[in-house]
Parts: sequence; C-alpha cells; structure tokens
Amino acid sequence: MVVKFFGGETVPLEMHKVRVVQKLTLAPIEERLKAIAAAGNNTFLLQNRDIFMDMLTDSGVNAMSDRQMAAMMVADDSYAGSATYEKFAAKLVELFGMDFILPTHQGRACENILSQVLVKPGTIVPMNYHFTTTKAHIVLNGGTVEEIPHDRGLEVTSTHPFKGDMDIAKLEALVATHGAQKIAFVRMEAGTNLIGGQPISLANLREIRAACDRHGMIFVLDASLLADNLWFNKTREESCKDLSIAEITRQIADLCDVIYFSARKLGCARGGAICIRSEALYRKMRVLVPLYEGFLTYGGMSVREIEALTVGLEETMDVDMISQGPLFIDYMVRELDKRGVPVITPPGGLGCHIDVMRFLPHIPQAQYPAGALASALFIASGIRGMERGSLSEQRNPDGTEVYSNMELLRLAMPRRVFTLSQVKYAIDRIDWLYQNRDLVGGLVFVEEPEILRFFYGRLDPVGDWQQKLAAKFRADFGDSL
Ligand SMILES: *Cc1c(COP(=O)(O)O)cnc(C)c1O
Repeated sequence: MVVKFFGGETVPLEMHKVRVVQKLTLAPIEERLKAIAAAGNNTFLLQNRDIFMDMLTDSGVNAMSDRQMAAMMVADDSYAGSATYEKFAAKLVELFGMDFILPTHQGRACENILSQVLVKPGTIVPMNYHFTTTKAHIVLNGGTVEEIPHDRGLEVTSTHPFKGDMDIAKLEALVATHGAQKIAFVRMEAGTNLIGGQPISLANLREIRAACDRHGMIFVLDASLLADNLWFNKTREESCKDLSIAEITRQIADLCDVIYFSARKLGCARGGAICIRSEALYRKMRVLVPLYEGFLTYGGMSVREIEALTVGLEETMDVDMISQGPLFIDYMVRELDKRGVPVITPPGGLGCHIDVMRFLPHIPQAQYPAGALASALFIASGIRGMERGSLSEQRNPDGTEVYSNMELLRLAMPRRVFTLSQVKYAIDRIDWLYQNRDLVGGLVFVEEPEILRFFYGRLDPVGDWQQKLAAKFRADFGDSL
C-alpha cells in the first residue's frame, strides 16, 4: 500500500530489504564516451561493466526473493515426472482456474505454439496492441495483426487510467467486415508493452468476453506484464478496490480461454507457460511442446527456475510485492514531469518513457532522435536505456525509411532492483540533459543490418556534439563523475 509521509511528500517505500548485492561502478564521462563509441552508439552493444544503471529491459532481470532462492535448492530435477513441475502446474491452476498447463522456455515460445495451432493463412488477430515477437509469429503463420486500441491509447499525454483498453466498436466492425470465422483469436495484452506499459481494465475485458461469446471467438490474454496491471486494477478501478489481488486475478482469468506469459517478467524468474481451458485445444498445442521446448514436465526451463517461478507467482498475489515497480515508475514520471521533461502520462508499468519528439524537436526522424537521446543519456550518466522509435523499425522494400508514430526512450525499471537514490540520480541527469538538449545531435548508420537493425546496427554521431556535451558536463560538474 502507499504509505503517507508526515512531511507530505509522496515517495515509494521499499517493502523489502536488500540481502544480496552486486557491486556497480560509475566510470568517468571520458570513459563513457569511449564505451558508447565502441558500441557504435547502440546501447544493445554496450558491455555490462561500463554501465551504472541498466534500464534496458525488465526481462529476466527482476530481483528474486529469499524464498525463491531457497526454493531453487530443493528442486526435484528429473527429465520426466518431476515433483517441481507438479507444484508449478498446481499453482497456475489455483491462480487462473484453468485445468490444462503447458510449460515453455519463454514468452515467445508460447506465441509460436499458439500461432501454429490457431493462425491459418488469411486469418486476422485483433488486439489492443502488438508486441514484437507476437506479431512476428502471427505473420509467420500467414495471419494479419489488427491493432484496435481505443483512440486515447495513442495520446502521449493523458490522464486516462486504462490507455491499454480495446475499442469494442472497432472489434465489432472487424467481425462485420471479415466474419467471425476469419478471426483466429482475439488477443489482449495486459500492461501494453509498446505503448508505455499502459494497463487494461477488467470492465473492458468483460466487454470483449461478451463479444467473443456473441461471435464464437477465442479470447487469449498475454499476461507477461500482468503483475503491474493488477496493481492498476486495484488502485484505479472502482470495482476492484475491495478485492484481493488473487480475486482480481481470478476475475480476469475467468473471462479468458487461454492465458500465456513470459516468466522473465511475471513471477520474477525465467521461463513461460500456456494455461488453457479447453481440453481439445490443449491436446492440439501439446504435441508442439516436446518438439520445440522439451518434455511436458519442464518445457525447456531449468527445474530450479520452475521452483523459483512457482514461489514468484504466489508472491505476485501480494499487493506489497506488485506495487514496487509501478510506485517507483510513478515517482520517476512525476518528478520528470515537474521539471518539464516530456514523458508519457499517466505513469504505467514496465518503465518510464521519454517522449523524444518533444525532448529533441530539432533532430529529424531521419537522424534517429530516440537513438541519439539513448546515446546522450549514457554519456551523461552511465544509464542504459532502449530506443523505441524509428531505429527499431525496418526499412520498406524500396529502401525508404519507416518512421514510427512515437519516438520513445524507454527506461525500464527492473522490479525491486533499484533504490530511490539511484532513481533520483537518473532524474537529476535526465533533467541536466534536458536543460542542455540543444547540444544533442543526430546519428547516422555506418553499419545497418537488413533485419532487426536495432539489435546490432552501428551508428556515428553527426558532427562532434558528443565532445561538446562532455565538455559542458565537465564545466557544470567539475571533476565529479
Ligand atoms: C516480453 C514479452 C513477450 C515475450 O516474452 P519473452 O520471454 O521475451 O520471449 C511477449 N509479450 C509481452 C507483452 C512481453 O512483454
């Protein structure tokens, strides 16, 4: 819960204590300049030893609890018939109330299996918003993704509590145009990843269930970011106010036919699973698990991770546990907003998203402003973020650029990993960078892979803006790091 401070300040309070630590180093700015140049101005290519705060992603980097670590020591490791797997499956049945469980090695593996079974050439998958791996698997199987978020979902600044909701009128229009038999399944993503970790409401899920019942469509929930979403249901949705997290979880699950998730996020471990209500559908998907993942009692996961994940899923029902990510993000977004730094509002889950179109309006999209800001922030702070803009798009077949609707710098908040003083440091350096934004220039490709260029492409700065930025840093901060 949110603890009130006598002084009136609103700050997130850690509801855990740190018992294992990892040493960090903060290199001087001259070293950071060299490191980002060696990485081709691509934060994916930085080395961990050069990074102070790693805010690239929330995937597989969340802190584990003492109970999770202890559980790993009692794992029942066997190829088939492991007692650890039985515990895991029983926990999922308890939480989601679906009888059939399939384990996978991570979230995208669920999407592979789901798409191979349900997506036929020419079919459509309506969804609130796509995720990169989800879309890739649907397209690979000949399907088309139709994104039908509510119009407010794409507004950068807003006070709407559930920007991840689907527009039901648009869903009905799709069914009217194409016929329900063309809809492979309807997909909702909790904590909509690519539009700023924005949540979905229980009320919206109820409307989608009703539409699926009317037209005989399958309803699938991507629950990878469910933990953050549950916190927003509890605190932003009137009908959930007096329910426990387990009760909200069950109300959501009762509306779905299939729930799948990446356990690199949900459950603070590494792995994934598909939970299925219908036995017939389960049997169709089951044959693919030994083929792509591993035997049915581990699915490509280490059995130790399955033990940790089972405990992690149980701990996800604790409001003090799931509040930590969203409360830290809320603090960071509000403090940046106060300083005039353009950020996506309202605060969501996953991380803090900087609106680079407004941060660096002088850099044309052809010079990748969000990539330039990621590079500049690393130089100014040793913080690693992730470009989510035109650099992450793929060129058209004729070689012209595809410019994305939003140019974002995502600063992920791995759950329970950072302290408040580290978050304050991040806010301070972003504030400084915003005051000196005119010094930041663009980037140009020197090595551009054809596919997934953002992962390993290399870029140069346009001109010597990075040296000028470092010189200004020295002038303002003296010999401080
Ligand atoms: C991360 C993620 C996935 C993919 O999961 P992996 O474990 O990385 O394969 C799918 N959907 C959403 C919403 C995600 O955030």
